[in-house]
Amino acid sequence: MRRLRRIKILATLGPASSDSATIRKLFEAGADIFRINMSHTSHDKMRELVQTIRNVESSYGRPIGILVDLQGPKLRLGLFGNGPIQLKNGATFVLDSLKEPGDENRVHLPHPEILAALKVGDALLLDDGKVRLIAEECSHDRTVTRVVIGGRMSDRKGVSLPDTDLPMSAMTNKDRADLEAACETGIDWVALSFVQRAEDVIEAKRMIRGRAAVMAKIEKPQAIDRLQDIIDASDALMVARGDLGVEMPLERVPSLQKQMTRLARRAGKPVVIATQMLESMISSPVPTRAEVSDVATAVYEGADAIMLSAESAAGKFAVEAVSTMNRIGEEVERDPTYRTVIAAQRPEPEATAGDAIAGAARHIAETLDLSAIICWTSSGSTALRVARERARVPVVAISPNILTGRKLSVVWGVHCVVAEDAQDQDDMIDRAGSIAFRDGFAKSGQRVIVVAGVPLGTPGTTNMVRIAYVGPTEEAPKTKKKTAEPS
Ligand code: PGA
Ligand code: MN
Repeated sequence: MRRLRRIKILATLGPASSDSATIRKLFEAGADIFRINMSHTSHDKMRELVQTIRNVESSYGRPIGILVDLQGPKLRLGLFGNGPIQLKNGATFVLDSLKEPGDENRVHLPHPEILAALKVGDALLLDDGKVRLIAEECSHDRTVTRVVIGGRMSDRKGVSLPDTDLPMSAMTNKDRADLEAACETGIDWVALSFVQRAEDVIEAKRMIRGRAAVMAKIEKPQAIDRLQDIIDASDALMVARGDLGVEMPLERVPSLQKQMTRLARRAGKPVVIATQMLESMISSPVPTRAEVSDVATAVYEGADAIMLSAESAAGKFAVEAVSTMNRIGEEVERDPTYRTVIAAQRPEPEATAGDAIAGAARHIAETLDLSAIICWTSSGSTALRVARERARVPVVAISPNILTGRKLSVVWGVHCVVAEDAQDQDDMIDRAGSIAFRDGFAKSGQRVIVVAGVPLGTPGTTNMVRIAYVGPTEEAPKTKKKTAEPS
């Protein structure tokens, strides 16, 4: 099963999409990787979903990625005594450390470290930014604020602090427990919410111990200020436009999205564009023109993946949302303008053998109009550097390691195949050709380019490019040539 687009689709699973039949349909419609949101999923349910996805994966024989998204330190107000209150513009409102139920004048903020970190002039956004307060007097257990934009407020509404550097890690105790459970179950990617600094990513990696790759969700202004360091520490980025649009002025989100997409591509790390891409499809079978245009923008920018949240997790048209993204991806990528935009943003290669070879492979493949670039990759690093080139010809990554195949499911343009390691260079060339033929990337008699590191299986040794003919026979992938051994 081969996709006809290069951008990948990441679909969130939830009540509308937890059963095996629906997950199968989502995969067939175009979902390349699934997201399990730990804000709404128990450990048992998470394990069940992972098992279901693995079953679907084995019946298609194609690696499918699983991303577990940790809730992160979402700050919330305490409780009000007599139901919702109304905050009036210009009024004074106090957040404090007293556990008593709140009223029009004050409420409990059950995060003492936040009260201690707030400074005069800092903004406090309540309930996804609907209400805005400004801190006017701060002490370690109490902050007096002025209501700038008032509104209704009720129990446990979310609090965002765009101006305050929070002295807390991006992981709560719940996140640590969720992370450990996910790693034990065996998943491919972990998404960290509300990352503020590179140390947050480093801390998570220390706990993960190589069992999964880390995607940093960029949704706070503090992370924007330290973007390059966070990219360096992470394996991938998510442009988490939901919370980003609460903590930053909404009109800044599009330029930040472009900036992040380009920086991630320069670094050769995948970037996912997330939230409200097809929001209206939660309840409608047809998206708005603006949503189609938004998805198309992400495709034109060369993002690695586009994400569905509630559209696939809780919406009425989960499968349609995936097939809509699929169609937009295919159509945009057929537009000649798309190639121009993608080529214009190609970053310079870094001075490494891997980049020199990846660049050369693209050049040769495009000059000779070859059918595909086939890379043998054990850790996935060769495939990532080849993907960074955003070549016009398809890229096939062959890995003996299924974990690599699953991890690469989020990477632009990489079709992953899991196959036994090659015996020698001839075997590598033969099988590259037969796999390209089998999966529909090359016809008999056409040529492909093979990229690898020899000796095989030593990560970080990309050093070989070879042009190879796809064999004249139409038989299934050859079994390895073996010299007869006495039994
Ligand atoms: P969330 O993250 O859906 O977990 O909040 C994505 C976002 O904020 O855009
Ligand atoms: Mn978020």
